[in-house]
Amino acid sequence: MNVLVAGGAGYIGSHVCKMLTRKGYNVIIYDNLSHGYEFLAKYGKFILGDIGDKRQLDLVFKNYKIDVVMHFCAYIEVGESVQNPRKYYVNNLYHAINLFDTMLENGVNKLIFSSTAAVYGMPENVPIDEEEPKNPINPYGRTKWMIEQVLKDYSDAHGFKYVAFRYFNAAGADPEGELGEAHEPETHLIPLVLDAALGIRKSIKIFGTDYPTPDGTCIRDYIHVNDLATAHIKGIEYLMNGNESNYFNLGNGTGFSVREIIDTVKKFTGKNFEVEEVERRPGDPAILIAKSDKARKILNWTPEYGIEDIVKHAWEWHKKLRSK
Ligand code: UDP
Repeated sequence: MNVLVAGGAGYIGSHVCKMLTRKGYNVIIYDNLSHGYEFLAKYGKFILGDIGDKRQLDLVFKNYKIDVVMHFCAYIEVGESVQNPRKYYVNNLYHAINLFDTMLENGVNKLIFSSTAAVYGMPENVPIDEEEPKNPINPYGRTKWMIEQVLKDYSDAHGFKYVAFRYFNAAGADPEGELGEAHEPETHLIPLVLDAALGIRKSIKIFGTDYPTPDGTCIRDYIHVNDLATAHIKGIEYLMNGNESNYFNLGNGTGFSVREIIDTVKKFTGKNFEVEEVERRPGDPAILIAKSDKARKILNWTPEYGIEDIVKHAWEWHKKLRSK
């Protein structure tokens, strides 16, 4: 089966490509390398291209007889989406619709879409299930929720079948050490703490210590990137079995505070570094923890990795990345 992985040179996409290849799928990676890296696009045939380029996309569908599409190519920086919403609406929304239209024109109607916990905004109920109201609080989250609505309408009107996965905090790296996170600029907590452990950063800043949580810092649900990849394989199987369009949270169901993450890294690496307590970062909910019962039940998905594995695999990868 031929799987087009749009954004397959990025963090999550590259791990999914490796797992797809291992499972015997034929992978075609389509990525403009705006945030991805060719060195991460090693599992599949790499094609340099932009999902906004309809002509090239159309050729890819025709040349490779695509059966199913996975769509990972979105901008993901919340702060940037507030400063430059146009960039987000053009790429994450308009270009995504371009991809869906090209699929339909080529008779391809199966899609796995990367959504996010950001669609829930500041949720009232924790753990969060899929029916929690969708009130995204920034353009990034809004583009993702808008696309989910577009997909629902395409599904109703055109027999389009999709699975949308709402990721909580993707973290960790390939357990075999070949792939991992390489965001530029890096804004995520775990790689930044690892940089502090390596001495590349002078300190790590905690954004807010006055949240209504046991230690005052924000709590997040960190989910291993390989557990996300497993869910994507199950998503393909779900669609291939003729099931209806659906959406799922993907998280571990356990929360860790910023302080707990810092302590876990210090303990695991044996490195000490300075921790600064600073103001809250605007737009951060106090607690985000997933209820992923739906994916467990319907997709038979069970996350395999805990926070120690996440830190261990991320650390192995990070040391390699920073020594390049
Ligand atoms: N965070 C922090 N210091 C940093 C980066 C992040 O205290 O240098 C906090 C952030 O405020 C949030 C949590 O760590 O509460 C996870 O942030 P991240 O950006 O990794 O993911 P998000 O939850 O925003 O998707």
